[in-house]
Amino acid sequence: MKVPVFTELQKLEFKEKPKPEIREAEVLMKVEYCGICGSDVHGYLNGIMVPLGTVMGHECSGVVAEIGANVKNFTPGDRVVAKPIPECGECYWCRKGQFSLCNKAFERAIGISPAHDGAYAEHVRIEYPDQMLFKLPPNVSFQQGALVEPLATSLHGVRVSSFKPGDNVVVIGAGMIGLGTIQFLKIGGAGQVIVLEVSEKKARLARDLGADVVLDPTVEGEGLRERIFGLTGGVGADIVYECTGVPFGFQNAMFFAKSGGQVMVVGINDKDVAINPFMLVLWEIDLKGVLGYYDEFNHVIRFLEQGKINSDLFISGIVPLADIEEKGFRRLIASKDEVKILVKP
Ligand SMILES: [Zn+2]
Ligand SMILES: [Zn+2]
Repeated sequence: MKVPVFTELQKLEFKEKPKPEIREAEVLMKVEYCGICGSDVHGYLNGIMVPLGTVMGHECSGVVAEIGANVKNFTPGDRVVAKPIPECGECYWCRKGQFSLCNKAFERAIGISPAHDGAYAEHVRIEYPDQMLFKLPPNVSFQQGALVEPLATSLHGVRVSSFKPGDNVVVIGAGMIGLGTIQFLKIGGAGQVIVLEVSEKKARLARDLGADVVLDPTVEGEGLRERIFGLTGGVGADIVYECTGVPFGFQNAMFFAKSGGQVMVVGINDKDVAINPFMLVLWEIDLKGVLGYYDEFNHVIRFLEQGKINSDLFISGIVPLADIEEKGFRRLIASKDEVKILVKP
C-alpha cells in the first residue's frame, strides 16, 4: 500500500509499504475514513509533536480486517473506531482513570511517531485492540466514526471543567474542537453560549449548533470584554473555553471570565505567551489545562447513536488519500473556514 510519509517539513512523500503484519494479540483495521487533525497540520508546518518519518493519522474509523489468534473481543467485519492513544492500565494515572496522563500513552500511540504508523493508509495495525477499538452502532456512519476522536477531546474539556447546567460560557474559536465544545455545552444545558470567531463561515456553523451570540473579536476590538460582561449581567462568564491555541485566546481568556470563574485551556500552543498573574490572583481565576480524553469515546459514540450530535456540520470535505497534501493539509493551512477534512483511503 502507498502511504504518505512525513519526510521533511511541509512535505508528505508517498512511499510503498507492505500491508502491516499482526501479532497474536493484535488487529488489522481497514481504514474507512481518517480525519486530518490540527495537530497533524502543526506538525507538518513546524515539526511540533510529530517527528520526521511518521505516517500520521489518528482519527479513524474502519472495519476489522484480520485478528490475531489471541483476540477475543473482535471479529473480522466489526465496524469500529480507533482510540489512537492506548493507556497502559497500570500506572498511577490509569488507576485513577486519567488515561490521557498515562505514562506510556504517547510512546504507544499511532500516527504521532515513526514507531507506530497512523491511519493515513488503507490498513493500520492496532496493537492494543481492547484499549483502542470501540464498536460503532449500526446507525452511526463511518464518517461520524472518524469524528469521535476530536469530539471526545471537546467533551473531555467540558467534563473536566466545573460546568453546570445554566452556566454562561464563552467559547473562543469555532474550529472542530470549539464547535464540539459548543455542541456539548448545549446538550449539557448551558445558559448562554457566547462564541468568539473571526471566520464568517465558522460563525454560521456555531450559530447552527446553538450558539446564542457569536462575536468577531476583530470587529469588537477593545469593547469585547464590555460586550461579554453586558451579555452576562455585568458579571462575566462562569467558564471560558480557549479552543484556538492562538496567543490572543490564552492571553485574553481570563478577561472574559467572572471573578471566581474558570478558564479551560483546550487549544494547544507551544509558544511563550505573557499574562499578568496579578489578575489571576485578583479575580481568583481557576486556570486549567486539558489533554485528550479519559473515557469519553463511549459517551461520544452514544451521543451519535442517539442522534444528539449535528455531525454533518463538522465535515468540510472528503478527499482521496492520494490528494491528502494538496486538498487536505494545504487547504487547511490556506483557509480559515475549514473545519474537519476527512481522508478516504
Ligand atoms: Zn486529533
Ligand atoms: Zn498508564
